[in-house]
Amino acid sequence: MYRTVNCGELRLSHVGQEVILSGWVQATREFGSLTFVDLRDRYGITQLVFNIEDDRELCEKARELGREYVIKASGLVRERSNKNPNRPTGDVEMEVKSLAILNKSKVPPFTIEDESDGGEDLRMKYRYLDMRRNPVKDKIIFRSQVAFAVRKYLMDQNFIEIETPCLIKSTPEGARDFVVPSRMNPGQFYALPQSPQTFKQILMVAGFDRYFQIVKCFRDEDLRADRQPEFTQIDCEMAFVTRDQVLDVFEGLTRYVCKAVRDIDLPEFPRMSYDDAMRLYGSDKPDTRFEMTISDLTGNAQGHGFGVFDQAEVVLGINATGQAGEYSNKDINKLTDWVKRPQIGAKGLVYVKWNADGSIKSSVGKFYSDETLISWCEKMGAAKGDMLLILSGELDATRKQMGELRLEMGRRLDLIDPAVFKPLWVVDFPLMEWDPDSNRFHAMHHPFTAPKSEDIDKMLDGDHETMKKLRADAYDLVINGVEIGGGSIRIHDRALQEKNFKLLGFTEEESEKQFGFLMGAFEYGAPPHGGIAFGFDRFCAVMQGSVSIRDFIAFPKNNMGRDVMIDAPASIDAEQLEELGLNLNLE
Ligand code: ASP
Repeated sequence: MYRTVNCGELRLSHVGQEVILSGWVQATREFGSLTFVDLRDRYGITQLVFNIEDDRELCEKARELGREYVIKASGLVRERSNKNPNRPTGDVEMEVKSLAILNKSKVPPFTIEDESDGGEDLRMKYRYLDMRRNPVKDKIIFRSQVAFAVRKYLMDQNFIEIETPCLIKSTPEGARDFVVPSRMNPGQFYALPQSPQTFKQILMVAGFDRYFQIVKCFRDEDLRADRQPEFTQIDCEMAFVTRDQVLDVFEGLTRYVCKAVRDIDLPEFPRMSYDDAMRLYGSDKPDTRFEMTISDLTGNAQGHGFGVFDQAEVVLGINATGQAGEYSNKDINKLTDWVKRPQIGAKGLVYVKWNADGSIKSSVGKFYSDETLISWCEKMGAAKGDMLLILSGELDATRKQMGELRLEMGRRLDLIDPAVFKPLWVVDFPLMEWDPDSNRFHAMHHPFTAPKSEDIDKMLDGDHETMKKLRADAYDLVINGVEIGGGSIRIHDRALQEKNFKLLGFTEEESEKQFGFLMGAFEYGAPPHGGIAFGFDRFCAVMQGSVSIRDFIAFPKNNMGRDVMIDAPASIDAEQLEELGLNLNLE
């Protein structure tokens, strides 16, 4: 028997019992005749004591133990004279009677403590050691609890968990595919799913009506802190539902999970149109934990002889409350440099300070009277002491820049409370976006998304400008400025799906070749249906207030898409290449 209790379990009520513990040596200490060993496992740490006066041989054995040795100890639980209130097991210790070394350990390359001295790369290479540390371990356990809560809620709502294949044909979700060569079909490739989209729709045609799956998806994209080439989705689909029914079910899921795993009571889930989100927040995933919405000053700013504003498509402003007295010229210059960084891309920044004494100071003071500038402040709901920050240029770009500046000011002014959770649904996305580079429309969500019913007729015979204005029955769940999930009501009619492919620049042959199976299925009684997918890793991260999804994945990839522990991707030998019909000459 390796253990009768675990290292997080013992309390005063166990005093006097003989128990067996197994685990890893966190630390050893000597105090005169006593040797203490902190023994750790997944559940906690228990102190072991050895007394040289009681058993010299045993105590010497304990003194030899190195960090991370795996041992088994049996002995008597007793009350500690020197209690440690910071540890759940801190009232007791084990007086060891026998000790077995189950395995030795090399000295670990970094400290296995909450604050480790190991750099990211080293910790990734020795991920098994990293995962022994509480902050990492706790997140992996948290993830498992989230998965359990998700299953519980969805099963209670009559959803069925169904697996879909990993070796498939490309499903466009806007990224590149990872492909797998087929040995038995030389020259042909499977694609790894970017999502199970087409399969879940076909499951609706099959009549399953409520499907879910916690599923790996693969997208060959450039990586960021919140992206991994393989990630997990909570993927769902429902038949015979309207958009609002889908939103209700997944608002319910979000509420249930947040309550179950973190005891968070989420507030309202307001619904905001994509247009309003872009107009007021400059983003389709607004962080609504603070206000500072964007105002349109175009009408007020043009026609006063200031060329930059006169030539701009829009002039937009935000109000940094109480900042007139806080921002020196130097601070403004720094902020101007910030908006001019290539990541933001603004050409310049205009400010209007409405000082506490009622005076006005502005970088465009030459062009506008104080009364005019005060009227801008008033339009934007500013008061004395406030400072307007203004950007101008082309509509979409300026909105996005303003959205970034708003977030930055929110951070600088400490308006973003990390303890607050603000969910919302962004709805009525455009059906497609024009991409000037490839000179064609792209589906904003994916090509299976249905237009809003009132837009179907326009879609059937609309021109280019009409196409840009078509709205989709698509929705995103956003929490604290992070897109948690997205979905849509789908097209379930062959003719409409064909039409959509055509608008997206597919020839008839191409759409038949790629998606003939789906359109074929639509001809055999496809029910109206819709669904959603949550980014599971991201959902976990957001609930813990973390921006990095990596910590919530047991074996994540680094920024180059590499698994540094197993050293993948790697080359394969010539024979294997040959067998796959891939006679590449990479030398
Ligand atoms: N397949 C979509 C995605 O991966 C989600 C959905 O439309 O249900 O984003």
